[in-house]
Amino acid sequence: MVARQCRHMTSDRVTIVANGRVIDPANGRDGIADVAIAGGTIVAVEPGLAQRRPGAEIVDAAGKLVTPGLIDLHTHVFDGLGDFCLPADRVGVESGVTTVVDAGTAGAAIFNLARRAVIDHPATRTRVLALLDPNQIYLATKHFICHYLEIANDERNLDLEDAARVLRENADVVVGMKVRATYTTDPHRSPFLEGAKSIAGDLPIMVHMGEFPHTPVITTDDLLSSLRGGDLITHCFRASSGVLGDDLKPTAIFRDALERGLLLDIGHSAGDFHFGTARHLIGLGIMPNTISTDLNVFNVDHPVRSLPLTMSKIWALGVPLDAVVAMVTVAPARTIHREAELGSLSPGRCADISLLRVVEGRQVLSDGYETITAERWLEADGCWRAGEWIAARAPSLERAA
Ligand SMILES: [Zn+2]
Repeated sequence: MVARQCRHMTSDRVTIVANGRVIDPANGRDGIADVAIAGGTIVAVEPGLAQRRPGAEIVDAAGKLVTPGLIDLHTHVFDGLGDFCLPADRVGVESGVTTVVDAGTAGAAIFNLARRAVIDHPATRTRVLALLDPNQIYLATKHFICHYLEIANDERNLDLEDAARVLRENADVVVGMKVRATYTTDPHRSPFLEGAKSIAGDLPIMVHMGEFPHTPVITTDDLLSSLRGGDLITHCFRASSGVLGDDLKPTAIFRDALERGLLLDIGHSAGDFHFGTARHLIGLGIMPNTISTDLNVFNVDHPVRSLPLTMSKIWALGVPLDAVVAMVTVAPARTIHREAELGSLSPGRCADISLLRVVEGRQVLSDGYETITAERWLEADGCWRAGEWIAARAPSLERAA
């Protein structure tokens, strides 16, 4: 599918993104270098290319960060399906993000419409992938309609044979499943999670930490015990999630799950990321695997805005910049088993490249509850998507007084 999404770029003209700080954790690179692009593909990454390629188009990236195309692993971008989603390009390329993963906005019976309307739509410039909700009818809406109508906890809404068919037929864009771990009769077991596990194969399952209105979910202990290595919990740094005991240390069940390979995803959202929890867990050495936004209509204006701003918050908590970049490039690519195609600047790859800048100056960053003051933050200048430059248009922050 990468070939398909790169195919429209047939120009052999060479563009060189010159003199930027290239941070490509997949290849262990962090230093000044040039990146050459031709025909929608990365052809070389090394210092001094610009001098050796007369006639190439030179883009001066001095003072900027050049990274593999950013990947936002938790978004809601099936715009027009319900009233919860944002336009894919607002979350994606207009924020400097080349790949977004829609996290379970749509169930199996609705998925093909979402695919046609957004993922495959010729006007969509962002690479859109998806995590499928196993229910026949799941639709994320502002008022949680599938929870309000109690079909998110009704096993009659599950048709695992059909969900498996949708996974199979859309294997080029469906990279895992998103499960709401509601229960029906046994409060320790979610038939939706167990059903997803029975058809997911080695695809990852993302589960939201926390509750939903109207429908009960299994406890955090039961959830952590049920997830497999390679599965992930999103909203991992929310408050009072149940991963810590009364002594504020990780519970034995949480430690076991991490040892099994459970992955932690930020999924910032409007109320699901707390600086306090993040500081505490990072202080214990429990790092997020991936940084994602959970961008939707409720949080786009405040407090989330964009993936680069969410990265800035993790950076402001003391996580080194190259690790922050890894959490939005190689780490999400590995999580969805697309590391052979996405998340690095290796020559031969589709030219999905992000161009960021570090803005020096005081900035107040909010998690929706608490604010912290950072000394610098990240803004997107834009990105190359399959070699085509797209300037960022998402609103930027003003310097604090
Ligand atoms: Zn979400």
